[in-house]
Amino acid sequence: MWRDSIVGQAEIVSALHESITQDTLSHAMIIEGSSGYGGLPLVLSLAQHILCSQDGATSCGQCKSCQQVEGLIHPDLHIGYPVVRKEGKERKNITSKDYMTEWRSMILENPYTTYNEWIRSIAKKTANGDINVKECNDIIQQLNMQAFSGAYKVQIIWIADRLGSNGNKLLKLIEEPPEGTFIFLICDNIDTILKTITSRCRVINMPRVDEASMSAALITQDVEEDQAKQISFISDGDFAQALTYAQLEQNNLMELCLQWMKLCADFDLQGLRQWSTEFGKYNSEEQKVILNYFLKILQSVIYHQMIGPDAVKLSASDKAMLLRNQSLLSLTVDEIDLISQKVSRMITMIQRYVTSRMVMFDASLSIGTLLKKRA
Ligand SMILES: [Zn+2]
Repeated sequence: MWRDSIVGQAEIVSALHESITQDTLSHAMIIEGSSGYGGLPLVLSLAQHILCSQDGATSCGQCKSCQQVEGLIHPDLHIGYPVVRKEGKERKNITSKDYMTEWRSMILENPYTTYNEWIRSIAKKTANGDINVKECNDIIQQLNMQAFSGAYKVQIIWIADRLGSNGNKLLKLIEEPPEGTFIFLICDNIDTILKTITSRCRVINMPRVDEASMSAALITQDVEEDQAKQISFISDGDFAQALTYAQLEQNNLMELCLQWMKLCADFDLQGLRQWSTEFGKYNSEEQKVILNYFLKILQSVIYHQMIGPDAVKLSASDKAMLLRNQSLLSLTVDEIDLISQKVSRMITMIQRYVTSRMVMFDASLSIGTLLKKRA
């Protein structure tokens, strides 16, 4: 059942399922939060409960409806999401339906898929996906039709951030959804949604996933316990990020980060150029993960200085590597603060699709200059 695929979030999950049982669930809702907090699996679990043919505190998991929702093939479960143009067709005629097979298989494999991962899987270059006017018209049309199999219909709009001003088309529908219809808008950031829409919906802010649940979920995915704890600690409650970390782990992030700092400290231009090119080969999620991990290393250095080695929450092997690295351990709090600011800025720029190789090289030079001054 979809409910079992949600990592943590026990409180919000049971509250919302309870309101389905009590028949008090709002008919137009916005679920806000990073994809890694689990908005999509949560909404799919609600859809499964709403469409289940049995009465109960949650979906039965056995009936035909439950199984159809499980496979994302229920005729009354409609899902819209951003897409890109397709060979041989005009963009204005392309909707989610043209990508249903790809989307379904991606989400069935990982309901914590992010927008970037999705778009990268269907577009060759860094493209911008959006939800177009035809999609909005289709949504209106299909929700105004009779339900196929029961009394209820569910419309999910995944990454509603990409509706833009087309969202206006859906205003009336959201204000007065047809009988038995539930509309869920899932977005990373509510500020991207028209105020006219947000004001008509009940808004749920997804909290971050707690470390213990995240750790337990990683262990079921064959991550070793020590590693799972470390990944949960550095993922900031974002399970999508945790999964990327888990995949990257074999590259040994600690070694990568220490190597980078050494190149900066030596002001090794040739080496930094090569390093920036290598860094550019990672995808944007992976780059973000590497940089976030570096921020955690810097934070650990501060903990080490303020409290002592026991306060360093890295895995045993990474901690040993850090404690051997005198040049990092001797950074002052002010220096760490400056470097952290630069790294945070890099993350923002990479998210805005600035060429990562350039961002990396540029930041490396300024961190190198900072480190050179102290030598
Ligand atoms: Zn059922």
